[in-house]
Amino acid sequence: MKQLTKKYALALHGGAGAVAGRDYTTTEKHLGDLARDCEQQLAKGTKALDVVEFAVTELESCGLYVAGRGSAPNSAGYIELDASIMHGPSRAAGAVAILPGFKNPVGIARAVMERTPHVMLAGAGAKAFARDQEFQEVEDAGNYYVLPVGVTPDDLSSAAHGTVGAVALDLSGSLAAATSTGGTFGKLEGRVGDTPLIGPGTWADDQVAISCTGTGEHIIRSGGAVAIACAIKSGVPLDDAVKQVLDEIKRLGGDAGVIAVSRRGDIVTPYNSEGMKRATAASDQPIETKTFE
Ligand code: ASP
Repeated sequence: MKQLTKKYALALHGGAGAVAGRDYTTTEKHLGDLARDCEQQLAKGTKALDVVEFAVTELESCGLYVAGRGSAPNSAGYIELDASIMHGPSRAAGAVAILPGFKNPVGIARAVMERTPHVMLAGAGAKAFARDQEFQEVEDAGNYYVLPVGVTPDDLSSAAHGTVGAVALDLSGSLAAATSTGGTFGKLEGRVGDTPLIGPGTWADDQVAISCTGTGEHIIRSGGAVAIACAIKSGVPLDDAVKQVLDEIKRLGGDAGVIAVSRRGDIVTPYNSEGMKRATAASDQPIETKTFE
């Protein structure tokens, strides 16, 4: 389908696990700066797929969010990481789940997409693949992982959560999405949420790119991102399609947030949790960074 106008648009999230009353000044500044970097790339013609991978790599590396460096151990005491990426025009997709000890899971997800015939590798197989492809391992977990902004030690025994994601429309009209997480705190060993699942956690096609955050079990049971994309395909407007799925997640007992960009460059970032760290940028609107309303 042809792009209507030459336009770019971008949304980033740092998770829907924000807690009212905590200070998110640092993450708002970080998301704003990152949105600016991504916007510069999009404005000079960088592809949406490269921009979402770049954004999520940075969000994983900084340690400010519950992904990559900011991840917390599962109930067995070690880190398991999930990530996924999807390219709208080709529907190519890649993911890793329950991946231990690598710095940038989203890059490994992209390598699964581009260098294997598969969509997802998990556990020992994902680790062997990442090693074989020479991705950077975490050598000293005790010193590498840090507590993200807004997370207190008390949160680690609860189901508190955070995740990072990026969605983009580039100047050629292509859409892409990527998501990465350390999962929910205190999760059981081997637990997989929505984030690495192409469909619930991450989706991109020729109409829309979507990244979800929130309680993964409820997102999976609602259909998540692909349920939004299907509603859009059947003619439901973007806002309504996202609201329908968020309402369903709420009805099932979960909370969640969604960032989505349409092929027209419309951006939506609703959530039904207390807050969601987020930033948006587009060729026709200034950068906006928020955590609460
Ligand atoms: N959706 C993620 C998971 O369930 C957590 C989050 O988004 O905060 O693993």
